[in-house]
Amino acid sequence: MALTGLQIYKLLPKTNCGDCNFPTCMAFAMQVAAKKVALNQCPHASEEARAELAEASAPPMKLVTIGTDHNKVEVGQETVLFRHKEKFHHPTGIAVLVEDTLTDSQLDDEISSINKLKFTRVGEEISVNFVALQHKSTTARDYANLTEKVVEKSDFPLILICKDPSIMESALKIAGNRKPLLYAATKKNYEKMASLAKEFNCPLAVYAESLEELAALTQDVKKIGVDELVLDPGSREPKTALDNLTRLRRLAVEKTFRPVGYPTIIFTGESDSFQEIIQASTYVCKYANIVALSAKTSWQILPLLTVRQNIYTDPQVPNAVESRLYEIGAVTPTSPLLVTTNFSLTYFTVESEVENSKVPAYICSVDTEGMGVLNAYAGDKWSAEKAAKTLEQQKAREKISHNTVIIPGLVAVFRAELIDEFGWDVLVGPEDAARIPSFLKNEWKGYMSKKEQR
Ligand code: SF4
Repeated sequence: MALTGLQIYKLLPKTNCGDCNFPTCMAFAMQVAAKKVALNQCPHASEEARAELAEASAPPMKLVTIGTDHNKVEVGQETVLFRHKEKFHHPTGIAVLVEDTLTDSQLDDEISSINKLKFTRVGEEISVNFVALQHKSTTARDYANLTEKVVEKSDFPLILICKDPSIMESALKIAGNRKPLLYAATKKNYEKMASLAKEFNCPLAVYAESLEELAALTQDVKKIGVDELVLDPGSREPKTALDNLTRLRRLAVEKTFRPVGYPTIIFTGESDSFQEIIQASTYVCKYANIVALSAKTSWQILPLLTVRQNIYTDPQVPNAVESRLYEIGAVTPTSPLLVTTNFSLTYFTVESEVENSKVPAYICSVDTEGMGVLNAYAGDKWSAEKAAKTLEQQKAREKISHNTVIIPGLVAVFRAELIDEFGWDVLVGPEDAARIPSFLKNEWKGYMSKKEQR
C-alpha cells in the first residue's frame, strides 16, 4: 500500500534545507506521496528511507517470469480483484501435464498434440503456455529422460514438478537454462529446493496445505534469497481451491500482505474431460495465475483459452480493429466490397466468413468506437455519412470498378442514405454473417452478371 505524505515525511531528514527545490521536507513529502516527484530528488534521504519507500510502492503482487527471451511467460503483478476497477494484467498461464511414465511413442504423441494447441481467435494468437513435466516414476533417470525429450521437442516454457530435490537437480542440469518454474518447495524440502532455485536462477513454487503455513513458508524461502515465488494453496477440491485463491488475491491486492504477494498455481483435480475444463475455466476467472491440467486436445483447450481471452480483455478499452479497407484474398477491381464496423468480433467474424466463401473481397471497417452493428446504429456511432467518408478516405473509388457497396442486413435502413452520400449502388447483405459465403457465391454473382448485361 502506498505511503501517505506524513509517513514519507517521517523517513526524511526534516532539516528543511530546500535542496530538493521545495521549501520544507513536509512539502516535498506531499509531492512524493502524490507521485509528482521521486524520492531521489532529496539528496539527503537515507538508504533505509529509500528501501522502505521502494518496498511500500512495489506492486502488491510480484511479477514472476518463467522461461527466457521470446519463450517466456510473465504471471502476476495483478492489482485488483475486479477487472472493472482497472484490468487484469497478465493472462493466466495454461500448463499441460506430461508424465515420465509414458513410453517414447506416447510421449512423442503428447508433445506433438501440445505443440499444436495454438489458435487464432478474433485476430489474436492464443495458445497454452507451459509444458509441465510431472515426476511419477520411481527413478531419476526416467524424469531426466522426459526432460531431455521435452526440451528437444518443444519450445514452451517448462514447469518441473518433482518434490525430490536430487531428482529436480538432475532435470535442472538439462533444462536449467530454460528458466523453468520449480514445483515445489514444501515444509520438508524448502531449504534444498530454494538452494536449487537460487543456484539455477529459477522461480520456485511453494506448496502448503493452509494459507497460514504458506505465508510462513514464503518468508523462510525468501530468507534463503529466492523471491520469484508462485503459491500453491494445496486443495484440489474446487470449492476449497476457489476459496483459497480468492483469499490469497484479496490478501495480496487489498491488504498488501506481502508474504502472499505472489502469483498462484492450481491443479485441476478432475478425471472427467468436461469437468476438468469447467474447473480450469473457473480458476481462470478467479484467481489462478497458472492452471495446470491434463487436457491436450483442441476441443478441450480452445474453450478454456476463449474464456481466458474474454476475461483478460481490458473492459475500459473498446475491442476494435483499425478502421480501413482490408483486402481478403487476391482481390481485383471487380471483387465485392463489404462494409462493417470496427468492433473486433464483428470484423473478424465477417473476415472469416469471407475467407470461407473463397471469394476474394474488400472489407471496409468503419470506426464505430469498437461497437457492433446494432449497438453502433442505436448509439449513433455509425451513419451513412461516416461510411461514405471512410470509403472516400480509403480510396475505394480508385480500387473498385463495379461501384457497389454491400452493407449488413441489420442496417438495411441506411441503403438510400448511403446511395445519396456516396453515389454508388448499395446491396443489402445478410443479417447473419454465417450467410456471407452463400451471399457472395449466389446473390453477388447474380447481381454482377445482370450488371454486365445492362
Ligand atoms: S532536500 Fe531533503 S532534507 Fe532538504 S528539504 Fe528537501 S526533503 Fe527535506
